[in-house]
Amino acid sequence: MAKHYDLIIIGGGSAGLGAAIAAYDQGIRKILLIEKENAFGGILNQCIHDGFGVHLFKKTLTGPEYSHYLVEMLKDRPIDILLNSNVTDVSANREVTVFVAGKNVVVYTTKAIILTTGSYERSAGAINLPGERSAGIMSAGQAQYFLNLRGYQFAKDVLIVGSGDIGLIMARRLSLLGMKVHAVTEIMPYSSGLKRNIVQCLDDFNIPLYLSHKVVDVRGRPRINEVDIAEINDQFEIIPGTTKTFKVDTLLLAVGLIPYVALSDKLGIPLSKSRGPVVNNNYQTKLPWFFVAGNALHIHDLADDAYFEGEEAGRAASLYVKAKMKECQKTLTVVPGKGINYVLPNYVNLPLNSEELVLKFRPRQDYINKRIVVKIDDTVIFKKFFPFLFPSELVILNVKNDLLINGESLVVEVSDE
Ligand SMILES: Cc1cc2nc3c(=O)[nH]c(=O)nc-3n(C[C@H](O)[C@H](O)[C@H](O)COP(=O)(O)OP(=O)(O)OC[C@H]3O[C@@H](n4cnc5c(N)ncnc54)[C@H](O)[C@@H]3O)c2cc1C
Repeated sequence: MAKHYDLIIIGGGSAGLGAAIAAYDQGIRKILLIEKENAFGGILNQCIHDGFGVHLFKKTLTGPEYSHYLVEMLKDRPIDILLNSNVTDVSANREVTVFVAGKNVVVYTTKAIILTTGSYERSAGAINLPGERSAGIMSAGQAQYFLNLRGYQFAKDVLIVGSGDIGLIMARRLSLLGMKVHAVTEIMPYSSGLKRNIVQCLDDFNIPLYLSHKVVDVRGRPRINEVDIAEINDQFEIIPGTTKTFKVDTLLLAVGLIPYVALSDKLGIPLSKSRGPVVNNNYQTKLPWFFVAGNALHIHDLADDAYFEGEEAGRAASLYVKAKMKECQKTLTVVPGKGINYVLPNYVNLPLNSEELVLKFRPRQDYINKRIVVKIDDTVIFKKFFPFLFPSELVILNVKNDLLINGESLVVEVSDE
């Protein structure tokens, strides 16, 4: 007979570890945490730069140090764990199929699941990269893995596509290791990376950033040796006469992360604008026993935020397991209003199970001196002034329970008033 758990957590990065720790602290004892790699930590293990843990540990840590601190917290809590174990299926009757390396396929049953499987990288195909598909084209995550975990120096001359934080951090890392980063190129007229990373990772190393540029050709076999980029206008059309050629052996793609939701897809769970599953304020999907958190729900800039979200989902799943979640009497549909890209959660179940509603969102563009306004139907229930708002920085707002009034929809928008 399949072994039964109260809660199974799939994925042992920051979010999964946060979920396991919080659920244990809420009194859940039959917990199984499953990770496909041979260690916990997820993406943290290959991020050897510092800048992790400022909120959770009040220190600036490297990714592996941060991961180590989380694993130490887990050790105080006797939770069943499986490493080297890939979850290949979750069925509608709550059976979790796991391929345990070196052993058989094992099936577990459970009352609830938290999906914390992180994200995957957009590929050359996803951005319609023109030209050859020769050796030397790789994603930033692959490069980070080769350099930081395996110690392979795989390039001499590099062009980086994408100026989000990952592209910027890789520009610095490659430069520090003696590779020449010729430029970072970005299709948008702005970088979606943190301002401090532009200064510390590009300006300090004299690496040029070409905004509003795209790759128009990649040449060379069996390994690439030339890449052309050209400037584009606001319609994303190439401006004639602006082509620049770079003699490089490596083209590094840092063109975004996408929530990894293969397991929830199989269950027919719909996706929202964040490209993760649609959830309510308890991190529950349309299947009330299936919860999601961390990069599997939406991409987090900070490991601390992924950890805290895992904790919130862990606490909510514990209420569900103990059958103590308040019965939903009214649902508000959450709508991204003017100037907002996406907002989570997608639905609010009232009454809340906590004292505050946590809203997470990203603005569509940079804003200076604006207010964020939260409305229920046409009534403003909350306002907050922000001197700066950037798409690269997730905004988290806590709205007190007693401000929530009856209505149909809750709108978050950018306002001048
Ligand atoms: C290059 C880079 C730089 C960053 N820099 C910083 C920084 O300076 N400061 C900061 O605070 N944050 C930084 N971040 C962000 C932060 O690291 C992430 O947002 C956070 O760690 C994501 O945690 P997660 O648990 O959601 O996902 P992940 O860490 O990706 O964990 C997901 C886990 O799920 C496992 N998994 C997936 N599928 C399965 C399956 N089917 N079965 C079993 N296990 C599975 C994976 O192996 C993985 O361990 C950075 C991120 C990147 C990529």
